[in-house]
Amino acid sequence: MGGYGSGRPSGFGRGTVESCRSIDVNQLYKVGCLVPGWWGSWQWTCDGEKVALINLHAETDCLRLSYRVCIGGGEWEDVEETVRIVRVPCRFGGSRPYFICPGVVSGVTCGRRVTKLHGPGRFFLCRHCYGLAYASQSEGSWDRALRRRNKIRQRLGGNPGSLKSLPERPKGMWRRTYNRLRDKSIHAEMLANEGFIAQAGRLWANLDNPKRKRSFRP
Ligand SMILES: [Zn+2]
Repeated sequence: MGGYGSGRPSGFGRGTVESCRSIDVNQLYKVGCLVPGWWGSWQWTCDGEKVALINLHAETDCLRLSYRVCIGGGEWEDVEETVRIVRVPCRFGGSRPYFICPGVVSGVTCGRRVTKLHGPGRFFLCRHCYGLAYASQSEGSWDRALRRRNKIRQRLGGNPGSLKSLPERPKGMWRRTYNRLRDKSIHAEMLANEGFIAQAGRLWANLDNPKRKRSFRP
């Protein structure tokens, strides 16, 4: 269950997102969180206890999310994500908002018009993006994606194992080159996350499905 908190008087706090959370554009719209200039936090509760929180900042045609994640037992990391919002006219007047999914899977930008984004991994993406990753990732590919991402970080003078944000553009490097490396790094990281989730999902399915377990017996 989601709920919204009031905007804080100054700056953003540090929200946290654990396991699978989702945001619903209609819910956000109803409570006024999409009004340009609105900012505040959205939180998930379980038995009245706050379990996760993200900060939102609405602009005219996008929603900026900022939160902290901890993937695979690593360090906590600050994440910022911008999600485009479109308003589609309704048949009987008015308009309805949709998220444009910012996901990139296997090099292809998703761009689907959706009402919900899910956050089991580092980013909030549509279910297709997480589903596709589940179907297309082979075991261990997240490992390779992570190595690719680390190589780029090293090239930029950063620490390969660090989960902190990407190093600044090194002196003397073209902005275009830096932007290309940054995009590659983000993409590799996204693949790594999706692969990790897919692998965890498969393990879970195997543990959870007695039929499947039996099929492994000689
Ligand atoms: Zn998507």
